[in-house]
Amino acid sequence: MPELPEVEVLARHLRPLIRGRKIRRVTVRREKSLRPTSPAEFQKKLMGGTFTDLSRRGKYLLFELQPPSGGSSAARPRPKTMALRSTLRLLGHLGMTGRMYVALKTEPLPKHAAIVFDLGDRNFIYEDYRYFGRMSLDLSPVEALGPEPLGKAFTPAFLMAALKRSRQPIKVKLLDQAVAAGVGNIYVSEALFRARISPKQPANTLTAAQVLRLHRTIRETLKDAIRFGSTVPLKFASGKSDGLFYFGRSGDGEGYYSERLRIYDRAGQACRRCKTPVKRIVQAARSTFFCPECQK
Ligand SMILES: [Zn+2]
Repeated sequence: MPELPEVEVLARHLRPLIRGRKIRRVTVRREKSLRPTSPAEFQKKLMGGTFTDLSRRGKYLLFELQPPSGGSSAARPRPKTMALRSTLRLLGHLGMTGRMYVALKTEPLPKHAAIVFDLGDRNFIYEDYRYFGRMSLDLSPVEALGPEPLGKAFTPAFLMAALKRSRQPIKVKLLDQAVAAGVGNIYVSEALFRARISPKQPANTLTAAQVLRLHRTIRETLKDAIRFGSTVPLKFASGKSDGLFYFGRSGDGEGYYSERLRIYDRAGQACRRCKTPVKRIVQAARSTFFCPECQK
């Protein structure tokens, strides 16, 4: 599942491709991908709108649009507050298998295209074969998120306070999007390995030194992944996987992409630090990978 780094890389990739583009038509091929927004409302609000920006919040893509202009008012400069009020915001979440990309209209639509925005000579496509992702005009999911782990509000003191309130294993607590928005299963395992902290340690027992280390490794892990992702050519040909979003598993011949992960999905393989076999356990129904020697 795409986490903060993958969504950040995607936002940076898509931003220049859609910015300034006007939506000629919206085709909703799968209503469930819009919940809770209805297709009629979605189409009415977005048709004729122009994409003005794209950013990321947590694991969400946040699209900004200039609504369809009502007459000649667009030519007149308006006070900033009014311009802000009239901005439309659209939320995108990739779920497990969602992909969003721009393709020439001459290319056939993929079978699992859920929503298609006609941008003139190109389509902006949201494709999802397992349909866990969505697009929505309801922004409430991002309002509940905690701070951005790469932002200023995510301080060691904040992390310490958040962990002090929980007896959950640190691995499980870190998946809570109110602690570090956008951090998920893969990068939690990676950050804990780098910090040499056991995923099973109760969150409220971490020492100040451990919290400092964890704070640093969460940020390092995410920054490294963004840096790596920025070097991967995103080729969103229909039906083909790409290395950024579909983490190569052993045997897939995608070693290049999985190499960058130090602990995740490496059960049974030698720890890169001490050669002890990496262990896999299940915590809160999710796989955790760790080195029993380095992360005691
Ligand atoms: Zn080790």
